[in-house]
Amino acid sequence: MIDRLIGRYGYVFPVCGFAKRTLVPHWGEVRGGSDLFAPSGTPVVAMIGGLVDAVGFGHISGNYVSMVGDDGLDYWYAHGDRPPSVSVGDVIETGCYLFGVGATGNADGGPPHLHLGIGYGIAAGDGPAGGCGHHFDAVLLLQRVLESASMQAAIQLGSDGRPSQSPAVTGKERGAAPSGEEGVPEGSALSSTD
Ligand SMILES: [Zn+2]
Repeated sequence: MIDRLIGRYGYVFPVCGFAKRTLVPHWGEVRGGSDLFAPSGTPVVAMIGGLVDAVGFGHISGNYVSMVGDDGLDYWYAHGDRPPSVSVGDVIETGCYLFGVGATGNADGGPPHLHLGIGYGIAAGDGPAGGCGHHFDAVLLLQRVLESASMQAAIQLGSDGRPSQSPAVTGKERGAAPSGEEGVPEGSALSSTD
């Protein structure tokens, strides 16, 4: 299904210059979202065009943009470094600038990152699934988009050009988030969208 989406829509990777970083599921386990670590201010763009249905600032998500993509999926971009450049009701194109990577909301004090939830509806509130999409593997989609961008840049990939889906990535991503809520285990009162 993800391959069909990739073939049909021209996604771009939402965080500029991410090529060599590691993609991780939200909290290392929830595949409806991912935390994309990058320096503060790194441009965040819409990975697919669509309709902006909410923007604002939340104490959990910080600066956020919610939109329905042209692919029918819901997208939740959070922790932006500044108020979103788009407004509710805007129909935006793929690659539209939203804000910079930041650490607003409950990411405050932790490493700057884009939290991106993708799915059929987005879970509200806190907890490991907060801000993540329902019934969708956001991490796999992001991985495929990153790979296709890399191929276009003529960067060498594995022999079959397909991603590894090994769950072993979980250990690595803990290392990517040495502080802040990202590394907080389940059950913490701090749990949230981060
Ligand atoms: Zn997250």
